[in-house]
Amino acid sequence: MQYVVVGHGTAGQTAAAVLKKVDPDSEVYVIEKGKHVSIHPCALPMVLGGRLPLEAVIETAPKGRINVLLRSEAKHINLQNKTLIFERDGETDEISYDRLIIATGLKPIFPKVEGMDLEGVGTVWDVESVEKLSRVLGNRVVVVGGSATGIEVAAELARTGRDVTLIEAMEQLMPGKIDPPIASSVAKALTDMGVKVKLKTPMTRLEGSGGRLRYVVTPAGKIEAETAVVVIGAKPNSDLAAASGLKIGDTGAVKVDDYLFTSDPHVLAAGDVAEVRDFVTGQPTATGLASTALVQGRVAAENAAGLKVRYKGALSPYLVSVGDYWFGGVGISASKAEKLGMEYRAFRFAGSDLPRYMPERDKFVVWLVTDPEGRLLGAQVFGRRGVRERVVFLTAAIYAGFHVQDIRLMEFAYQPEICDLLDPVAVAAEGMSRKYRLLKSASD
Ligand SMILES: Cc1cc2nc3c(=O)[nH]c(=O)nc-3n(C[C@H](O)[C@H](O)[C@H](O)COP(=O)(O)OP(=O)(O)OC[C@H]3O[C@@H](n4cnc5c(N)ncnc54)[C@H](O)[C@@H]3O)c2cc1C
Repeated sequence: MQYVVVGHGTAGQTAAAVLKKVDPDSEVYVIEKGKHVSIHPCALPMVLGGRLPLEAVIETAPKGRINVLLRSEAKHINLQNKTLIFERDGETDEISYDRLIIATGLKPIFPKVEGMDLEGVGTVWDVESVEKLSRVLGNRVVVVGGSATGIEVAAELARTGRDVTLIEAMEQLMPGKIDPPIASSVAKALTDMGVKVKLKTPMTRLEGSGGRLRYVVTPAGKIEAETAVVVIGAKPNSDLAAASGLKIGDTGAVKVDDYLFTSDPHVLAAGDVAEVRDFVTGQPTATGLASTALVQGRVAAENAAGLKVRYKGALSPYLVSVGDYWFGGVGISASKAEKLGMEYRAFRFAGSDLPRYMPERDKFVVWLVTDPEGRLLGAQVFGRRGVRERVVFLTAAIYAGFHVQDIRLMEFAYQPEICDLLDPVAVAAEGMSRKYRLLKSASD
């Protein structure tokens, strides 16, 4: 068998490595347009803030016996002949496949406003964009977009002592993704670090002099800035699939079935470019997460090799750092449930992460979203320690179909140096059960 994987990001790397494991005698080729074997985009905010050198996030050697062709851009999939046409260093080449996996990720969105070409304006997306931005990074920075990347970048740059303003067009940070109780904790954490958080403040244009950025202009006035980091979002990089005649879904990503096959029986898609089912709502979704891309890369490779592994849907757990704090979540937010017209219940618990007598104890916020019966649909948490373990637990809880009643009755391991006896998640589940009289348990 000969497999071709397009893109050597999280999904592509995983797919290529798994293909070699499940089908060791096969040939696996990866067509990657970048010049690096791979990079770690999730660490780029730390690179911009100077906590990590750029080289730390660049991989120079492929893992295992995979043929990675760099500087090779896939141009067209010939579905009839089962060949991929690609360009390498200006030359056109063709490679045949038995199965092909598209893993081309997302591409960043840039607003069409005046001044985007000024020196001092950039984004945090890949090695090249961070390298470029680092060269022009001034003392007064405006981060445009209250996205996860915007929040991490603002916090990282505030750590360095820079004068940072974060502007977001909507009335809260990460609208739709997180709900107001968590968004306000995040905004406060940023403000405490010295970041000026300006909500309902869209960027209307950028103003410069002598080709260099001077102001970020908003309806509320001009903000003086030497640097503007524009991180307003991204969209599926599905042009290759669309141009080759594969079906594209409503999200703009490549439509796949539960086995990650596209509309062609020999072509699969995985990662940010794939439109999969949302685990909770069953609706089509395109995620933008490394953890989700990794699982899809694995499932796509196994199915390409002839196994029959069903992808159960994207739970989309995420984590974001904000100075000394973290927040994260999984499943759907209350605002998403609202938008979809789903009936839901939500509950907020704000307590602390350690027992009362531990001097370093700090705040911890839990936000649970359930259906009217108490079945967990989504959750978000904010705190200084133990955020990831709660997100991992809550992910497993949604996966297993837990009701808050199950969480209330569960035992949580305890030792006072790292947690409180009453786990904040259990307390939130208890409070929610009482408030909404949710007596049903999944195990009843
Ligand atoms: C700044 C930043 C921070 C992030 N932080 C987190 C985080 O903390 N946690 C988290 O879970 N996720 C995070 N993410 C998201 C995460 O990086 C992505 O979801 C993940 O990399 C998706 O994997 P992928 O394989 O689908 O796409 P990618 O990793 O983007 O890989 C796509 C690859 O395809 C290549 N390619 C595209 N088109 C072609 C073509 N025509 N021919 C050949 N090659 C092509 C690209 O060069 C790229 O290497 C972050 C992303 C960014 C940008």
